[in-house]
Amino acid sequence: TADIQASTVGSAKIMSHMPLCATNMLQGLFANHHMKYTGRQQLGVFLKGIGLNVDEALKFWQDSFCNGAGGMTSETFNKEYKYNIRHMYGLEGGRINYKPWNCSTVLAKPKPSKGEFHGCPYRDFHPDKLVGELNSMGINDNQDITAIMDDVAKTEYTIACTRVFELTHKNQMKGGKNFDQMHINHPNLYFDRSRQLER
Ligand code: SF4
Repeated sequence: TADIQASTVGSAKIMSHMPLCATNMLQGLFANHHMKYTGRQQLGVFLKGIGLNVDEALKFWQDSFCNGAGGMTSETFNKEYKYNIRHMYGLEGGRINYKPWNCSTVLAKPKPSKGEFHGCPYRDFHPDKLVGELNSMGINDNQDITAIMDDVAKTEYTIACTRVFELTHKNQMKGGKNFDQMHINHPNLYFDRSRQLER
């Protein structure tokens, strides 16, 4: 898709369609100008799935790592990370065309340690932090918050995430636009549906 480029994937407009796992990784990346291995993989294939091509991906990661205070040099980037990104696009090594991770794959990886941003925030965030995030997405109703936090307590993370999708797309879905299978079990499905509702 033409509007998915290095310069736009981190824009408010594109990020508004992303599930919490993706916005959390992007925020972590932008704040740190770096990202550890699992986050690079999870975010990298997610971005690939939304339509970021390999050239734009290289530009995006290079800009994110090199620009800003404390950023690395482009020599270091080329030496240490370029291969990793090209590999993700099936252009190096075994030439596997890696698919974006679904929620079960995300949830099957080790949980993020301090300074890591991969994973699923519905599982990994402290409840207070999660509620804060929900509030900043415009979810403030106590019943809604309780329903989401109940899903989380039952370890039904994708159900919590689907509920958040429904609440944050209430107006767009009013027009009768509905999906056969509402349950969202893939970060890229979340993104695609959100974009679809925008049209
Ligand atoms: Fe991402 Fe899936 Fe977790 Fe939603 S449920 S935040 S899409 S990993």
